[in-house]
Amino acid sequence: MTGTRVLVLNSGSSSVKYQLLDMRDSSRLAVGLVERIGEETSRLKHTPLANGGEAREQTGPIADHEAALKAVAEELDKDGLGLGSPELAAIGHRVVHGGRQFTEPTVIDERVLAEIERLIPVAPLHNPANLTGIRTAQALRPDLPQVAVFDTAFHTTMPESAARYAIDVETADEHRIRRYGFHGTSHAYVSRATAKLLGKAPEDVNVIVLHLGNGASASAVRAGRCVDTSMGLTPLEGLVMGTRSGDLDPAVIFHLARVGGLSMDDIDTLLNKKSGLIGLCGDNDMREIRRRVDEGDERARLAFDIYIHRLRKYIGAYYAVLGRVDAIAFTAGVGENAAPVREAAVAGLEGLGLAVDAERNGARSDEPRLISPEGARVAVAVVPTDEELEIATQTYALVGSL
Ligand code: AMP
Repeated sequence: MTGTRVLVLNSGSSSVKYQLLDMRDSSRLAVGLVERIGEETSRLKHTPLANGGEAREQTGPIADHEAALKAVAEELDKDGLGLGSPELAAIGHRVVHGGRQFTEPTVIDERVLAEIERLIPVAPLHNPANLTGIRTAQALRPDLPQVAVFDTAFHTTMPESAARYAIDVETADEHRIRRYGFHGTSHAYVSRATAKLLGKAPEDVNVIVLHLGNGASASAVRAGRCVDTSMGLTPLEGLVMGTRSGDLDPAVIFHLARVGGLSMDDIDTLLNKKSGLIGLCGDNDMREIRRRVDEGDERARLAFDIYIHRLRKYIGAYYAVLGRVDAIAFTAGVGENAAPVREAAVAGLEGLGLAVDAERNGARSDEPRLISPEGARVAVAVVPTDEELEIATQTYALVGSL
């Protein structure tokens, strides 16, 4: 391997997010996003951080992922950072579903592609888009190692007692129904960064990670290994999210179908896109919800309370799963920015050793930091996540070892 750069690609159904990193110092050379692929109003926003950081934008139809990646390659070329550069060591792809088999980042070959394809039934929205991104990147640089970093990998250490649903074992196995968990790259990164913040090795700490973004998940990490997480077969299970319901009685689905007359597709859309905070109060942005709460809006208040109630239940559950907790780490858009959420999540839990210091909690910073009072039994931390850096780090380490 000669190069030191890694391109990270996160291909969604109609978008591609990317970052080019220099792994000598983990610096970002360029970041960007192509959105609304396949529409008339596609948009490419490219920021060449290495060269002054002046963002460039273009709008106009970008037909498909291939056209999107070619447009990205052209933008990178303009700054001498093109895909053809010998400095590029590898491309790291975020792949949402790796099933049980992918427990580590993996160099992509035909067998790996076939496996990712075989997992489409359990990730119908994400894996096809990820595959398209990989195939397009391979066509552009067939000689370059391409690495898949799976959202599920960090959770493959969950014991069967946490990973299995209590349903008929044969039926579950036939359809590969089990709890896989998602956001694994973030949970891995944040749990390690939390150990570092405490001045300890990951093996020496137990951490509850609360990844609270538009999608949200909690995980219980014992000595660096995930032992439980709140998302399941799909990202629908668990916490109240921006637009997803999280946990509910599965019979709600039968009821909506039999009594409400909704189709399976309608129910899928209702629970994934029109529920959670947006279903409860019409807004999914926590900033807007807090603004409404402060103005005395009752629906926003109820949405906030339901969100917090679920979050506290998971904190309690994972406390019991871990037995001993060294730290709770808040991350992602809400976790990193919404002090009222952090305060409410642990309010009144001094008996569990949990508290936040109001001043520390209110201070703004992009750095990992403690918000618990001095000398607290359990550290409460805000740890900004960095999934792209984690994907790049794992990719670079893997190709370096080839
Ligand atoms: P993510 O999915 O991690 O990008 O998080 C996006 C979400 O973070 C948004 O939908 C908001 O609810 C939330 N968010 C972002 N910034 C803030 C902020 N300053 N205060 C409260 N919530 C925020």
